[in-house]
Amino acid sequence: MRKSLLEILACPIDKHSPLELFEINVHSTNKSSIDKQDENGITQDELTYNHTSYENVIIKDGVLFCSRCSRFFPIIDEIPIMLPDELREREKDLQFLLEWETKLPSKILDHGVPWHIDRK
Ligand SMILES: [Zn+2]
Repeated sequence: MRKSLLEILACPIDKHSPLELFEINVHSTNKSSIDKQDENGITQDELTYNHTSYENVIIKDGVLFCSRCSRFFPIIDEIPIMLPDELREREKDLQFLLEWETKLPSKILDHGVPWHIDRK
């Protein structure tokens, strides 16, 4: 998703806005190296995105977080997945959290809603 979309997104449960964004992989649309990935699917231009304008920043992987209800919403392959609890899949969500465990804060990993990782 385009980073500027953040300004109009709200939590589907309580309508809280703005949501907090945690970026995992980003790229920008004004460079020739768009979507250049290595064989592991990791974006190569992550380090240079700070030099590009906000409008052109695309979030490839990340998390949207609602500070009111503590719900997190994954962004996967540029798509923010903002589903009500009953349509979410626990196993998929937990797999996603584990995949990016080192890049996400404890308030999502350990205290996120509707579920979180049970690390003891
Ligand atoms: Zn919320």
